[in-house]
Amino acid sequence: MTHYQNILLAVDFSDQGHYVGQKAKSLAQLFNAQLHIVHVLDNIPMPDTPYGTVIALDEDSPDDLLRTEKNKLIQISDQLNIAAARRWLIWGEPQQEIIRLAEQEHIDLIVVGSHGRHGLAVLMGSTAKEILYHAQCDVLAVHL
Ligand code: AMP
Repeated sequence: MTHYQNILLAVDFSDQGHYVGQKAKSLAQLFNAQLHIVHVLDNIPMPDTPYGTVIALDEDSPDDLLRTEKNKLIQISDQLNIAAARRWLIWGEPQQEIIRLAEQEHIDLIVVGSHGRHGLAVLMGSTAKEILYHAQCDVLAVHL
């Protein structure tokens, strides 16, 4: 049986995110794997920033919205005991950046919710579907 070594949890801060996070944490414990977490900002205008820019979590930003998103990520990461070096806040297009990060960090399992903010009315949301189709590694879509 394959043992996962690096698991990436993708969070969109939707209500069911806690459930998905607990599943990812349990899997990481089961396989003794490193757990990473990512949130991709796709709704904050940052005109001079190229896609895929990693935003340092320890830097203050004048932007209230950005600060709110940072705090949410820090809070979830703290709850799941994810080390600071494995917390990722990236600006860009979610599925593209999640897949790019997974390759960069040698992730062997990506954990997403079957739907989130973008797919409440459908069986599987668009971000989850795109990741499932295009990621090079295994993908777990936690049924919500
Ligand atoms: P969706 O397909 O957009 O309904 O979302 C399904 C799942 O994809 C969510 O439960 C998250 O796990 C992940 N996801 C969606 N948007 C983002 C985002 N901006 N950043 C990180 N993960 C996301």
